[in-house]
Amino acid sequence: MQKVTTNNETSNQCKAAGVDLDYDREHVWHPYTSTINPLPCYPVSHAKGVHLYLEDGRALIDGMSSWWSAIHGYHHPVLNQAARDQLDQMSHVMFGGLTHQPAVELCRKLIDMSPAPLQQVFLADSGSVSVEVALKMALQYWHAKGEQRAKFLTLRHGYHGDTFAAMSVTDPENSMHSLYQGFLPEHIFADSPEIGFHDTWQEDDIADFKARIAAHHQELAAVILEPIVQGAGGMRIYHPTYLRRVRELCDDYGVLLIVDEIATGFGRTGKLFACEHAGISPDIMCVGKALTGGYMTLAATLTTKTVADTVCSGAAGCFMHGPTFMGNPLACAVANASLTLLATNAWQDQVSRIEHQLAELLPALTESDKVKAVRWLGAIGVVELHAPVDMVSIQQSFVDNGVWIRPFGKLIYIMPPFITTDQQLKKLVFAILQSLK
Ligand code: PMP
Repeated sequence: MQKVTTNNETSNQCKAAGVDLDYDREHVWHPYTSTINPLPCYPVSHAKGVHLYLEDGRALIDGMSSWWSAIHGYHHPVLNQAARDQLDQMSHVMFGGLTHQPAVELCRKLIDMSPAPLQQVFLADSGSVSVEVALKMALQYWHAKGEQRAKFLTLRHGYHGDTFAAMSVTDPENSMHSLYQGFLPEHIFADSPEIGFHDTWQEDDIADFKARIAAHHQELAAVILEPIVQGAGGMRIYHPTYLRRVRELCDDYGVLLIVDEIATGFGRTGKLFACEHAGISPDIMCVGKALTGGYMTLAATLTTKTVADTVCSGAAGCFMHGPTFMGNPLACAVANASLTLLATNAWQDQVSRIEHQLAELLPALTESDKVKAVRWLGAIGVVELHAPVDMVSIQQSFVDNGVWIRPFGKLIYIMPPFITTDQQLKKLVFAILQSLK
């Protein structure tokens, strides 16, 4: 009789030999790739500093900071120690009815570093969840005030995450509105800003937004946008006056302003938070990604005392959200260590050095007829092409050139760890140049 092999036995057979790529390809679902014909995946054995080490021994300079998060680099002794110390105390306890020093310290740090009126912190599990929380806060705020406001005004080319409410305020072309028709609430989209960060401001740029807030303000719970840099929806870097005007218009019409600093927060754009470029403060702010220095998932939604207390003065008497892993002590402890590192690491010098080098190196890439435009801000560099890249070949070219860069569509972009040296940054830009050939 043939022996029946359990799933467990099959996978045990493959444990010793590193990542089983066949199993990965057959069973492991990676983001934004097909299960029928998945894009290739490169097995990583470990990471240190700015380097990702592949199993075959190759070291790649990470140009992505693992999607904006590993700002201090990998295997950082201070972050490692913080995680170890916290493991010896407790890795998790529920946050309902219990509290702990790592969470309290983190909330204090976040409030101290954030724009002034933000005084209340809600800890969330991921960026998308912190956006859900922000949107729910705005809805409950108006509900408590006895107004039925259920619409959000947002920008084309925006991106706010992959959960349902977050998708509903993400650019319709990226958020698959048509695919999820009937499930996704429909919100209002204004034209995205066209005037770049370094260009001369023209008042026309805000005209569409102005018209839409004027027409819809009575049904709007809030405006939500990414401040200064629209990330996954196009890597667009826009003029601070646009954001300043949005704040003024929200004040004029009495609409809450939510800024999604999940990608831009913690120094990435050259300011601690991108809304500082415009000198504005929001009513609600979402942070995530670099919060733990890329060690583990954690996000937060901050708001003013007024919004928080209004929410809690409503029928429910509290905010209706409370995830299992809220305020996870392990994540909070690492976040505390990461924010302390940020404060002591002269991040402004690091980011400004990267920015100057991007300004020096990127313009030369426009000599390639494949390149439509280049742009940069802080430690973010973007090369926009005329046509979408071929992912398989470009990824291979980057790996062959010793770097890790993950383009999407027509965009090749880098946001390396802040500790990246001049030489390493040169190598990243050189690899982009090579890939264009
Ligand atoms: N908002 C912005 C601006 C983001 O860039 C992202 C992540 N790419 C999110 C929200 C969602 O965060 P997460 O992937 O942690 O859910």
